Amino acid sequence: MTQLSEKARKAALPVESRVADKENPPANGAAKPSGASKPALKKQRYLRRQKDPFTIVQQIKLWPSKNGILHGVRSVKLKSGMIAAETHCGRTMQLRNSRNSRLARHLRNKFYDRPCKKCRIPSWKIDKFSETTFV
Ligand SMILES: [Zn+2]
Repeated sequence: MTQLSEKARKAALPVESRVADKENPPANGAAKPSGASKPALKKQRYLRRQKDPFTIVQQIKLWPSKNGILHGVRSVKLKSGMIAAETHCGRTMQLRNSRNSRLARHLRNKFYDRPCKKCRIPSWKIDKFSETTFV
């Protein structure tokens, strides 16, 4: 059953999503690395955009709020289809774990205005977030 739905889901996806399944960055024909790999090159990260927002929040520990503030997440739980997240600034956020929700959309599009000052999100975390491509 799961295999069938997985197949159907993949068929509906563009090619680049299938490439990301194998955790291989899409090969760029023009820029071919000639022998030596450059360690200075930033690593591009990939996350599946089809994942539910709970899984994404659990991985990146960031929560873009409705008014454009990016919070750091201390803990996140899933109870009866609701995501309950506690931010570092002491807020509790609760949202339905829907892939079509505002949260999911904002995570995918990295849509936020500014990081929360109280949460003190380390800059590497924000960098990591901005390097992440949702495919
Ligand atoms: Zn905050």
